[in-house]
Amino acid sequence: MVTSDKKTDPVKFAAFESIDAASSSLVDLSKDIWDHPESGFREHRTASITANYLRELGLETRENIAITGVVGKIDTGREGPHVAVWGELDSLIVPEHRNSDPETGAAHVCGHNIQIGNMLAAAAGLSNSEVLRDLSGSISFMAVPAEEYIEIEYRETLRESGELEFLAGKQEFVKLGELDDVDISLLTHASPTESRTLRPGVSHNGMIAKTVRFIGRSAHAGGQPHLGINALNAANLAMQGIALLRETFQDDDHVRIHPIITRGGAAVSSVPANVTMEMFIRAATVEAIKDAEQKVDRALKGAAMTIEAEVEISTSPGYMPSIFYPPLCELYDESVIDLLGEEATGRMPHRTSSTDMGDISMIMPAMQSYVGGASGRTHSDEFEITDWELDVVEAGKALASTVIDLLANDAAKATEIIDNFDAPLSIKEYLETLRGFRRSERWAGA
Ligand SMILES: [Zn+2]
Repeated sequence: MVTSDKKTDPVKFAAFESIDAASSSLVDLSKDIWDHPESGFREHRTASITANYLRELGLETRENIAITGVVGKIDTGREGPHVAVWGELDSLIVPEHRNSDPETGAAHVCGHNIQIGNMLAAAAGLSNSEVLRDLSGSISFMAVPAEEYIEIEYRETLRESGELEFLAGKQEFVKLGELDDVDISLLTHASPTESRTLRPGVSHNGMIAKTVRFIGRSAHAGGQPHLGINALNAANLAMQGIALLRETFQDDDHVRIHPIITRGGAAVSSVPANVTMEMFIRAATVEAIKDAEQKVDRALKGAAMTIEAEVEISTSPGYMPSIFYPPLCELYDESVIDLLGEEATGRMPHRTSSTDMGDISMIMPAMQSYVGGASGRTHSDEFEITDWELDVVEAGKALASTVIDLLANDAAKATEIIDNFDAPLSIKEYLETLRGFRRSERWAGA
């Protein structure tokens, strides 16, 4: 396929030729990762395939960053900005999916496997020497662990043993200093729409996580319930309290609070004395998350007080809100129009889900695009990739073409974007904010 852009821009033409030459191996690699899903911080096989591919392209490649992360770097030899192209290594766990791992239940139902494919496609295009001689600065390909915020108990064990401080891959990358000299970030995520579109996202909710334990007193549930303290009743009341706070949230803050009860009691004939819950508190801004959190804590304590139970509340940092940088998205649109036409562009409106790409968007200009070519609900048994060529090859070309636009002409465009970007947080402030969310308290009424 020859586009008008290839005819007019020899540098992009060379990059696209390299990607086309590698296209079947890139699709095969993406299908192989689809067939061998691994959840966060366990992606050893996926990481090793990714590292091998980057090494074969001739990139200086480091492994085992934040346990399974991989970074391959190209230095043009000329000074200039440092652009990161990201791909997420991890799968979800949905045992009902037809392609789930029979032992672990892992399944690629968020399509992160195609992210690795399109990141490597961009690497194949940009490592071409005919391309590099026109660019300044450097480019890193960052295959990052654990975007999905799951298996919290397992990750807490990694935290307790000192292997991690945070429970997500990009946060660990920031803490380890991997982003200290990176200026711009790009990522392309799958989206379950079968249209041939590549649409940058606008924003996402951020979130924090809480684990809660109500402690009561056991007693015979039929004979002497008056001697017990019913921890399940306290949890029920807390859920009611949280639900009744809904009208105090502002529409624009997109607050979402979704608790579950993870242990509701031990035996039906005994008053439940030990009941546990988990919940995410999500909102579009850090202020709105903090506001909602205070209200949730009050509902938990109020419920404990009513029932005379005690409550333990442990709070963990989740993800920062995402705000993707419009001028960077607009630059990406130009490449998409050249590759697939005007009808392939657009915007993914605000999403109430969360991603640690939000953390990156707090500290540098960042873009997360959504590529069509998938079907079914994400995170469900139905999710399938339907257009591998679009998700891997065309999405990779759009990334490579955007990096060329950023770093050609002495990196004039990248420099303009970096100069105009007003970072919501410095890396130091970001890490302090994240750490500030972590606390535990036990409340016995007062
Ligand atoms: Zn995802």
